[in-house]
Amino acid sequence: MIRLAKYAKPYLWTILLAVGLLFIQANLELMLPDYLGRIVNTGIQQGGVENAVPQALRASRMDRLSLFWLDAEKAQVMSAYDLFDPAEPSAAQALKDVPGHGGEAVYLRKALDQEDIARLNPLFARAWMAAGALEKAAASPEDAAGLGNVFSELPSGADGFQTLQALPAAQRASLVEKLSDPLDALGETMLTQSAVGAVRAEYATLGMDTAAVQTGYIIRTGGIMLLLSLLSGGCSILVTVLASRVGAGMARDLRRAVFQKVTAFGNAEFDRFSTASLITRSTNDITQIQLVVAVLIRIVFYAPIIAVGGMIRLLGAGSVMWWLIGVAVIVSFSLIAVIMSLSLPRYRVVQNLVDRLNRISRELLSGMMVVRAFNRQPDEEKRFDQANVELTGVSLFLNRIMAMLNPTMMLIMNGLGVAIVWVGSYQVAQANLQVGDMMAVTQYAMQIVMAVLMLSTMIVALPRASVSSDRIADVLEAEPAIQDAPDVQGFPEPFRGEIEFRNVSFRYPGAEEDALHEINFTVLSGQTTALIGPTGAGKSTVVNLIPRLYEVTAGEIWMDGVDIRRVSLYDLRSKIGYVPQKSVLLSGTVESNLRYADDQAAESALHSALEIAQAEAFVAANPQGMQMDISQGGGNVSGGQKQRLSIARALVRKPPIYIFDDSFSALDFQTDAALRRALKQETGGSTVLVVSQRVSSIKDAGQIIVLDEGRMVGKGTHAELMRSCALYREIALSQLSVEEAVE
Ligand code: ADP
Repeated sequence: MIRLAKYAKPYLWTILLAVGLLFIQANLELMLPDYLGRIVNTGIQQGGVENAVPQALRASRMDRLSLFWLDAEKAQVMSAYDLFDPAEPSAAQALKDVPGHGGEAVYLRKALDQEDIARLNPLFARAWMAAGALEKAAASPEDAAGLGNVFSELPSGADGFQTLQALPAAQRASLVEKLSDPLDALGETMLTQSAVGAVRAEYATLGMDTAAVQTGYIIRTGGIMLLLSLLSGGCSILVTVLASRVGAGMARDLRRAVFQKVTAFGNAEFDRFSTASLITRSTNDITQIQLVVAVLIRIVFYAPIIAVGGMIRLLGAGSVMWWLIGVAVIVSFSLIAVIMSLSLPRYRVVQNLVDRLNRISRELLSGMMVVRAFNRQPDEEKRFDQANVELTGVSLFLNRIMAMLNPTMMLIMNGLGVAIVWVGSYQVAQANLQVGDMMAVTQYAMQIVMAVLMLSTMIVALPRASVSSDRIADVLEAEPAIQDAPDVQGFPEPFRGEIEFRNVSFRYPGAEEDALHEINFTVLSGQTTALIGPTGAGKSTVVNLIPRLYEVTAGEIWMDGVDIRRVSLYDLRSKIGYVPQKSVLLSGTVESNLRYADDQAAESALHSALEIAQAEAFVAANPQGMQMDISQGGGNVSGGQKQRLSIARALVRKPPIYIFDDSFSALDFQTDAALRRALKQETGGSTVLVVSQRVSSIKDAGQIIVLDEGRMVGKGTHAELMRSCALYREIALSQLSVEEAVE
């Protein structure tokens, strides 16, 4: 992946934006369990009453509570409340929410901020508990929440509150002191939770709508949760959009880069990578990268934030259950490690098998005619099947392993849930933990394990992508063997088109033997030189070296006094009209194919090229003329027509050098002769190199070079060679009558 990192660079800002959004999303999601805990703890268990500081309470109740406060504390409380007496008409408005006051004066809480509430809450919580205990102590002292022994100091039988009130200030203060220890031992949370019951009872007495208080709280908290979820959902959508853009953008850039690179490839590189593999690399492999990049951005940043954030919140909340989660995380990671070690090596195999399958399919499809003609369908099906079955086998194995991952992780996650409830239930029973907090812990645990799971899917996808990215990087980093020299020079003007082979030897990349051995010849400007020899003698190889489709292994090729490696490929190739052995037409029309050589060519030039190439007649016979469709690879024209169009294409260019690599082989003798006659006029001033098997086609050439097994075995005119070259004589006599041959 690192090798392709530079392709992520243009998207750096998009990626950073996505990461920022992920951070927000993760934090929003981490807030949810906390609110869930509050809904359970406060909304359900405490009836929506958040703290022990009541909104309203009767004066008599306040008096009783105030017995458990020191004077300073009492003053604090009083400053937070206003007293309203129903006897006064002005109080009616303020008291309308507490219809159950029964004529008694009522304290209403002033508007307080969180800080005031936090300060008053422990005072009220303790007082509510103590007052409740004192009431119970009258009936059964042992029931008084552990405060019975404190109250037992008070004379029994009498009303505890009156006795307390009657006590001298110092004695009451010492009693309050004594109460604070057992009360504080409960902890403020538990104290508040217990006191809230008394607050609700007071609300009920006052005729306040307690159900509305509860519903209000739940709706408020639920509303916040909904809002958080919506926001985090929004972030998630944005991140997905951004990540997909980065993925798709990178894929586009990579495809472009690979394509550009491949167009610069010489035949050596095509031989090295194979066309099938290049196609797989620029489609399948790039798609892998696209998918992984999109997921990578979403998960690789999000999961750790959730996992670490969740842990921090758990530890911050002082939860004792973090170790359970720790164990779950360790188990998950071990599982992932095992799965990775099993699957990783096989991903590379898969990609190679996909290559192979592509290669076989390509070959079968393009060779279908031959396969049918020889009735080899069953064998070829078997060959295809073998590759297919092998790929299926490996893919199935990988899928099975991956299929195990999810359920196992789910098992771990749910097992963790059960463990938390188990351990948590004991803590709830011991009043160390509230139910809502336990639920929040469960939620955090799920989030953390989910994050690990996400990371694991990522970790599984990564090796695939890294295999793919290596395969793409291999192409991108391949340096074409044939390149412009750093200090290119131009041909001398005017260009004459003289070609000289000096001791040229050539070996195909990877081949064991040289295909050409020390070839020496000169093609004079304007001269026609023919290459002849048995199949495999190296004729095509010689002409392919001229436009530098391959590079000489030893020796030099000079053109107009310049080594062809010193000029730019563009310059060199623009001087040559090359008609390859295998005619290649591109999909489009006759015209578009001809204009491939020169898109500025005049209409008349196209027609004259067609005429010379003996193609005018069949193009004119078509109702669409030059607009006649040419399907991909020229599948809708005959071999001979294809050759003629491909010759016409070279003619449109009007180059100073023509290379015809066995370009007349598919023509009948008559057309061949007519074409050569017309060509001779057209190419009069040009240098022409012709590869041919037909002696009759080349008899008139100014120079004939005879090749055999990569060596030059004869050079001269027809007449000279008939005398001096045994091989040439043999070829000539096998094709021509003696009279024709010696003519
Ligand atoms: P000709 O055109 O005379 O029929 P070629 O020039 O096509 O012969 O081939 C000359 C020799 O080079 C042959 O022995 C052939 O097997 C070998 N050859 C041709 N193309 C390649 C290639 N791409 N890789 C390896 N060897 C090749």
